[in-house]
Amino acid sequence: MNYDTYGSTAVELAIDLANADRDDPAWVRSFLDSHLEWFTDGTDLSLTPPDADRVAETSTLVRDVALAGTEPDVMSRLNALLALASPRPYATDHDGELHLHYARPDADAVEQLTTTVAMGLSQVVVQHGWQRLGVCSAEGCGNVYVDTSRNASRRYCSNTCASRSTVAAYRARQRA
Ligand SMILES: [Zn+2]
Ligand SMILES: [Zn+2]
Repeated sequence: MNYDTYGSTAVELAIDLANADRDDPAWVRSFLDSHLEWFTDGTDLSLTPPDADRVAETSTLVRDVALAGTEPDVMSRLNALLALASPRPYATDHDGELHLHYARPDADAVEQLTTTVAMGLSQVVVQHGWQRLGVCSAEGCGNVYVDTSRNASRRYCSNTCASRSTVAAYRARQRA
């Protein structure tokens, strides 16, 4: 998916966090390890259990925003998430491309993560509309997504889920 038009890939981090498989007891560490780009070099990624709980709470809040069905609900859930953020943006080109980071470079891992996720998500909502976040319609999926399509017509988290659902609908028609 192309997030360029959103001015920030931070929303991608938010979506990944909401869709993380939390059945694995080590999921927080695996999540941090697979998103190192967003953490200052040298950030301690071995979290205490209470810190891991805070990451889980952020994941739940992102999912709650995507599940909300009205603008007031989206706003109140987004504000609950933003209340956990401590933004202090700065410009960086650490990966060769100029972009913004949203948290203090010396903040701990949870503060960096929560702040980045809250800022990335809220930017998309306020710039592109509260309907831009959704939950996949494919049976048994439940992943959240950000809809970057021109007419906001997206219903699935991925092409895999879209084609799986098309095939299932076709089979259902054949049986009927
Ligand atoms: Zn970066
Ligand atoms: Zn899906």
